[in-house]
Amino acid sequence: MIPRHPAFCPFISPIHFDSSPSSVLPLYFSYPRGLDAYGRPGEANGVTVGFRALSDGAAASAGFTGVSPSGDGYRADVFVAINSQNTSVGNQLAADIAHEGSHTADKQEAVAKTGPDGDFMRSPGNITVRESEQRAYSVTASVLAGLPGSAKYEPSRGAIIYDPRALPAQRNGIATQGINNVLSGTNPLYPLEKLRKQILEAGQ
Ligand SMILES: [Zn+2]
Repeated sequence: MIPRHPAFCPFISPIHFDSSPSSVLPLYFSYPRGLDAYGRPGEANGVTVGFRALSDGAAASAGFTGVSPSGDGYRADVFVAINSQNTSVGNQLAADIAHEGSHTADKQEAVAKTGPDGDFMRSPGNITVRESEQRAYSVTASVLAGLPGSAKYEPSRGAIIYDPRALPAQRNGIATQGINNVLSGTNPLYPLEKLRKQILEAGQ
């Protein structure tokens, strides 16, 4: 059960990313967008959350499973899987949930922006995996930036965690470097061919 508003630290620092050459979309620095994507308990919004063994070692994933009729149009169906071997607890787990919520929001937006031709793949919201990850990791960084605990860049997890000695002013740089490193194409979780795919094509 995912609480609708986990007990995040409210002191979220604004983070600015301007050194990534691949940053072509505005980034979202607040996590409410990602949390809103989950909807309310019992709401039939196409989002399901559960546990699953993820073979690639990811902490969690947000898989696009298709579309369903909704109102006059369609909605995205998304399965958010928390890796059953995910050892994250507390705020780190909350950051993972917010990260996947950002991906979920991207998929919802992509389907919602589908044109009158009904071709989801051609939706202007069908951004690349790289763009979606940049958004999602900016959310991760925003959550972690507000935490007093230890945090550092941890490439094996595909995560950005800050050193407790890092000053708030240093955290922008750490987050930017961490995101660029995670998405450089050398991390096994994010090979280049996957980063180049569109989110509705990649299925996650
Ligand atoms: Zn992600």
